[in-house]
Amino acid sequence: MTAIAIVRTVADLRAAVAAWKKAGERVAMVPTMGALHEGHLSLVALARTKAERVVASIFVNPTQFGPNEDFDAYPRGEARDAELLAGAGCDLLFAPTVAQMYAPGFSTRIDVTGVSEPLDGAARPGHFGGVALIVAKLLIQCGPDVAVFGEKDYQQLQVIKRLVEDLDIPVEIIGAPTARAPDGLALSSRNAYLTPAEREIAPALAAALTEAGRRLRAGESVERVEATGLAALERAGFQKIDYFEVRHPADLSRLGPGPIEGEARILAAAHLGKTRLIDNMAVG
Ligand code: AMP
Repeated sequence: MTAIAIVRTVADLRAAVAAWKKAGERVAMVPTMGALHEGHLSLVALARTKAERVVASIFVNPTQFGPNEDFDAYPRGEARDAELLAGAGCDLLFAPTVAQMYAPGFSTRIDVTGVSEPLDGAARPGHFGGVALIVAKLLIQCGPDVAVFGEKDYQQLQVIKRLVEDLDIPVEIIGAPTARAPDGLALSSRNAYLTPAEREIAPALAAALTEAGRRLRAGESVERVEATGLAALERAGFQKIDYFEVRHPADLSRLGPGPIEGEARILAAAHLGKTRLIDNMAVG
């Protein structure tokens, strides 16, 4: 078993990062909520190509969960996560407590308007406010040269890029491709909630996105592609579909109703039992 250093306070995190920077080493950060899988580890691998030192954080952030969401049920297992991070070549794990991140009297909110409003912003009110707040805090606490986030959470990645630019946070944000199971399902900590029957249906989400991309490239209209995608998910057995939409790849504004002209991103969110799955794909 390989060990990894774990720090739980901002002071200890800053001391470790300061020592590396003093030695002239670049630092990359990979923020996570734990319950790590190959997707997270691919982010660490990418981070290692960008900097001499990699800090991962594990923090299940209460402010990005709605009142009826899965904050309490969210899978947690720090010992296993720490071992995986050590094996992936991560140098330090920052695992703060909720009290460390939200001290008594904490009052600040961050609202990234525009890009955070449609799609998951509409389906999960307050979610991106919580994400922007915790990511801003983590980046200010750690002060990395680069930070790596997954395209799996594509809207989150765009919100973070906007946040960092608007607040002049001196860090380069890097997007990493989505790691998938062999049948196409995007890896996610929440896949652990799926029953065996639901796990069989789940790859239909990625399949519908792939098919939508094919149709868009063939010149089919956005309106038709979205309708076909929704119907495919319903047929596959998804019970509630939050969205299946073709959007501008950077600001996530609406495209269509006709054929696309430049690049686009297809994004979808749908429920299987108590699990909400999201996925997205590039077009062009
Ligand atoms: P989470 O622990 O779910 O908050 O995710 C932490 C980071 O890992 C985020 O930047 C996610 O976008 C990224 N991530 C999650 N799943 C995947 C995946 N299947 N492939 C690549 N990155 C991922």
